[in-house]
Amino acid sequence: MNTISNTSPEEIAISITDMNKWYGDFHVLKDVNLKVKKGERIVICGPSGSGKSTMIRCLNHLEEHQAGDINVLGTQLNGNLSNIQSIRKDVGMCFQHFNLFPHMTVLDNCTLAPMLVRGLSKVDAEGAAMAYLKKVCIDNQADKFPGQLSGGQQQRVAIARSLCMNPSIMLFDEPTSALDPEMIAEVLDVMVSLAETGMTMLCVTHEMGFARKVADRVIFMDAGQIIEENSPQAFFDNPQSERAKTFLSQIL
Ligand code: ADP
Ligand code: MG
Repeated sequence: MNTISNTSPEEIAISITDMNKWYGDFHVLKDVNLKVKKGERIVICGPSGSGKSTMIRCLNHLEEHQAGDINVLGTQLNGNLSNIQSIRKDVGMCFQHFNLFPHMTVLDNCTLAPMLVRGLSKVDAEGAAMAYLKKVCIDNQADKFPGQLSGGQQQRVAIARSLCMNPSIMLFDEPTSALDPEMIAEVLDVMVSLAETGMTMLCVTHEMGFARKVADRVIFMDAGQIIEENSPQAFFDNPQSERAKTFLSQIL
């Protein structure tokens, strides 16, 4: 199943080795090991509180790990500020609650970081932003403010905004779980299209249809550990652990 062991270092996007994290006394991530190949699509699932968000937030240093190694695209995440900045340039993230800047238009949301961080001119940043907004079918809303859009539209803007930074890796943390049911599909469709471009993706989601369609691997977490790791078909049809069986019986 695991073809990652004979992968050369240049083909690895993310390597997490014996990673541990505590919030105060609380041991939230325990000996996490995970290698992700460039272009791989990983779905991470597991009960609420199992550490999924914490794990992916460690990958761009929104949370700090205390032990073990995290290497992203060949750069070690070790608290060194220039390493963190370099990794953040390459790793985009979409959250459950979109986190758009409410006082800025859709277009300005998309051009801010490319201009500030990548040094693009306004014209170039706007050109790129309009192209990505078109890809997520929302270019006709570019002059609106986030509050004037539906949740699904805001999440598509958030995805376009991340893509404007031209990331090599995209992290998604339950991007559809705050959406009304009728808006989930429009966001998942955008994520499926992104997967088809070959983007390396780590998606925390319980959307099993999405996982079956695009995931190369499903990671199941519980109580701060990776408990199971398998193809979507094997995981959903034949979970190995009692914990995964219980989890799946609750969400399916
Ligand atoms: P998940 O995303 O799987 O629901 P989280 O990573 O958000 O899990 O949380 C894992 C555990 O860590 C939970 O018990 C949660 O209460 C705790 N936790 C999350 N963030 C913090 C924090 N900033 N300080 C203390 N505990 C936290
Ligand atoms: Mg979470």
